Amino acid sequence: MKASTMTDPLPPELPPELPHNPNRVEPRALRPQLSRKQIILMVLVALVGGAVLLTLKSTAKQENAEIAIAKQNAAEQRAIEAESISETILKRYGGISTNTEQKALVGRVGTAIRSKVDPKSTAPAMRFLLLAEPNSINLFALTNGDVYLTTALLNRMQTEGQLAAVLAHGVAHIVSIHELAAIPVEGDIALPNWSYAAKAEREADALGLKLMGDAGYDPNATVGMLTVLAKAYNDGADVAFFTTHPNEAERLNEIEAAIHRLYPAGIPAVLSK
Ligand SMILES: [Zn+2]
Repeated sequence: MKASTMTDPLPPELPPELPHNPNRVEPRALRPQLSRKQIILMVLVALVGGAVLLTLKSTAKQENAEIAIAKQNAAEQRAIEAESISETILKRYGGISTNTEQKALVGRVGTAIRSKVDPKSTAPAMRFLLLAEPNSINLFALTNGDVYLTTALLNRMQTEGQLAAVLAHGVAHIVSIHELAAIPVEGDIALPNWSYAAKAEREADALGLKLMGDAGYDPNATVGMLTVLAKAYNDGADVAFFTTHPNEAERLNEIEAAIHRLYPAGIPAVLSK
């Protein structure tokens, strides 16, 4: 009945008008009135949610910390190994060369190559060190960032580009060691773990070629470098470098293919070094 509806009292959810009280604080219009139960429930939900978040966060933090410690331990372990390998190399290959001109050349070319390593890489700072050894043609790239080459190897290089090819290969091994946890040293059969897997060699070749190009060198100098070393080897020279790089013909083909992939339109004229 419509008439009686009109005279009904206000619905119960609307509070009846209270007599004016000057001390009464008006509730904010938009704030809903919560029951005690609702408030307790909300506080509980907030507390439980917060606790879960904190637990997740601290678990993730702990895992990150564990990963960081494991990484640091592995790096320290590699540093200790590299230190001992360095000592052996220095003893066996006549120590560091005293030829300041040659040392400066090796340092300058090596640093130019190193500067083209992806800055996001975890690769260490590197040193390019010339060993006095006059006969054994060899290169060592250690996980601590030390790249050693023998004077015998340097003296065989006909161009700065060929030297860059050797150093870029070493730099690429160091960069790849961190990415692939490969074996930390190459080049000397008497040292432990001296050889890289064939796959690592191909990757070091490919990255080395890219670094060369980025540093302004014609990557074809890698072909020249290997050809020169192959000739030295055939002439009976001590090319210990090749003990880690078997199957030379196939390697040259792969290097040429990799150069073509990097520069499908041919080597840019700017890569003139
Ligand atoms: Zn190699």
